[in-house]
Amino acid sequence: FNVPVPQNEPVLSFAPNSPERKALKAALAEARSKQIEVPMYIGGKQVKSDTRLPLTPPHDHQHVLGYYYKSDASHVTQAIEAALAAKPQWENMAWEQRAAIFLKAADLLATKYRAKANAATMLAQSKSAYQAEIDSACELIDFLRFNVAYMTQIYAQQPISSAGIWNRVEYRPLEGFVFALTPFNFTAIAGNLPTSAAMMGNVVVWKPSEAQIYSAHFLMELFREAGLPDGVINLVYPEGSVAGKVIFEHPDFAGIHFTGSTGVFQQIWQTIGQNINRYKSYPRIVGETGGKDFVLAHHSADAKALATALVRGAFEYQGQKCSAASRAYVPDNLWPEVKEYMLADLATIKMGGVEDFSNFVNAVINEKSFDKIVSYIENARQNPQVEVVAGGKYDKSKGYFVEPTVLLSKDPRSTTMCEEIFGPVLTIHVYPQNEFEQALTLVDTTSPYALTGSIFSQDRYAVEQATTALRHSSGNFYINDKPTGAVVGQQPFGGSRASGTNDKAGSVLNLLRWVSPRAIKETF
Ligand code: GLU
Repeated sequence: FNVPVPQNEPVLSFAPNSPERKALKAALAEARSKQIEVPMYIGGKQVKSDTRLPLTPPHDHQHVLGYYYKSDASHVTQAIEAALAAKPQWENMAWEQRAAIFLKAADLLATKYRAKANAATMLAQSKSAYQAEIDSACELIDFLRFNVAYMTQIYAQQPISSAGIWNRVEYRPLEGFVFALTPFNFTAIAGNLPTSAAMMGNVVVWKPSEAQIYSAHFLMELFREAGLPDGVINLVYPEGSVAGKVIFEHPDFAGIHFTGSTGVFQQIWQTIGQNINRYKSYPRIVGETGGKDFVLAHHSADAKALATALVRGAFEYQGQKCSAASRAYVPDNLWPEVKEYMLADLATIKMGGVEDFSNFVNAVINEKSFDKIVSYIENARQNPQVEVVAGGKYDKSKGYFVEPTVLLSKDPRSTTMCEEIFGPVLTIHVYPQNEFEQALTLVDTTSPYALTGSIFSQDRYAVEQATTALRHSSGNFYINDKPTGAVVGQQPFGGSRASGTNDKAGSVLNLLRWVSPRAIKETF
């Protein structure tokens, strides 16, 4: 590497009386005690509109953390213009200067702003301290540092030359602007999508999910303090349809970096297709979308390890990870023991607001999501093939709380075995232990997604069989581990089929999507 060798940022423990716990408690108290203004950022200027809307914590929906200013079509147009105006200087800047800005942002986040970023993610997105720490601190710091290292690897990749001929490749940024459309569930992903494109010399219009606006605004201030020039990343808050119309009809639209639902991504792809004649170049379409992530156990699996993985994989962050374990296939010889361990584990889990660090489960993101999850639970209750093994209760009076819910489905093709719920609901199908091959076929064929998945087995032949048979069933495959928690630099993340374009977040592959190389041959 031509830059500091990246190392994964250590995860803080927040043990009682630790300095990080005190700092985080103080940051939470401060954020709760005031209501902030959240402007747009266009061309380096803070911009406000006439429409001011509240930002509220999902676990305490009557409390107002602040107000953001809704964007209309003219703000989106201004953001595109500001991006294009910033482009010549930004793309001609030496890569070391660009890299320094993102490395500085990582350092600022690791030190000065860690508690503030974690508190923002905890409050606005209802994440526990640990889930916030591995997201808005560690993963985002890792994305910034590792991507800078990958960037240098890309620039170093050069062709061979011979006597009298000098060949080289110029890794140009895309011609136009990139649109970053980012999700609520990971502050790190929201930070990564605009910065990975910007790092490679692109200019960006960034629209975060509404529930993540509060923490997006802190990230924008962080990037600016680290020295990001005006207009390189522009942050706006329009309705999706308003943004889509302006962005996808613009001749300088050069690419989209997306994480969100499969349905929205497919609509975007179609809109881009309809507008294809308007653009100067074929836009880059990079997206990570839904998942219906599996855990398959072989009869040789360790029941306790499996039970722990199911509880953590399915219920951490209320199951609102694209990677969450949401369907499991457990052999009948193991099920009684696995069930016992799971019920014992679940009995110790507390649910509530993020301010009490002993709560493992917090609220789901908003009322729409709450209603959708509840309707899946209620429909499952009506299905004679399905039994509620644990949880199943919910309450939205103060916050959007849904108990961690385990369903047992006799039918391996029931709705909750196949459809993405994006909430704390795990459906388990128990299969006869001598039908492992049939279970492999079920895993591969009962859902359109292919994001993450796990095999639990102590038998190496079964591990091999699953690894081969499930080759296209996930983009991230885990052997004897839960299917969540990919670490930047260790497990590049992304899936195929209905789960996305598999351009692995935090990898050379992803950064290559944000350049348009020019091969230059010079003859002497
Ligand atoms: N990278 C995260 C994980 O491995 C999931 C990202 C997502 O939910 O989009 O758990």
